[in-house]
Amino acid sequence: MDNIVRIAIDGPSGAGKSTIAKAVAQKLGMEYVDTGAMYRAVGYKMKEKNVSSEDLEEVGKVLESTEIDFNDGIIYLDGKDVSGRIRTPEMSQIASVYSALPPVREKLLSVQRDIGHRKSVVMDGRDIGTNVFKDAQHKFFLTATAEERANRRFLELKAKGEDVEYKSILEDIEARDYKDINRKLNPLRKAEDAIEVDSTNMTIEEVVKFILDRIK
Ligand code: C5P
Repeated sequence: MDNIVRIAIDGPSGAGKSTIAKAVAQKLGMEYVDTGAMYRAVGYKMKEKNVSSEDLEEVGKVLESTEIDFNDGIIYLDGKDVSGRIRTPEMSQIASVYSALPPVREKLLSVQRDIGHRKSVVMDGRDIGTNVFKDAQHKFFLTATAEERANRRFLELKAKGEDVEYKSILEDIEARDYKDINRKLNPLRKAEDAIEVDSTNMTIEEVVKFILDRIK
């Protein structure tokens, strides 16, 4: 058998999964894989090509000629780095719509399993512990209240000088939670054997330490 280690970090939007997963991966010398970036990249391509989410046949066709990879912290769509283009509120909403479609999930499931079969990974997403790597050696479910998640996002965007409104960020987070929890395919939920970490009153360092302590 291989001695590949897989660590799954799932949870709702804005819980800090990518920051935490990146730090854990770095500490352990493992590769970090952001599966949300993959769904965003697919949403980006569908929007560029004007493919309706109602037209599953066309979505499937476009996916056949779509290449997605996540390497060294960079998301590649058809060989191009699209990291800078997928982090907008619009792309968040688009990703959450296309991520509910069977052909999209099927395609990205296989991309994610391929990566996790080649090397040890810390993978963050919504369905890693429940679906992509049900046999992951370590599973965590990272949460925080919607208000706290919205507040963190608000402060982050404000610090970047963006003109944002707390209320609309909270609404966006609640809308994405609803879609992720209620979709038919691989909805967001805690795997039975995942350790839940409520980060509402924790710092990033505390969450990283909590996770590392459970892995060692
Ligand atoms: O994590 P992030 O907010 O970047 O994810 C964008 C969207 O991709 C989520 O709102 C969710 O709908 C979808 N997603 C998913 N399954 C994953 C990761 C992300 O459905 N494993």
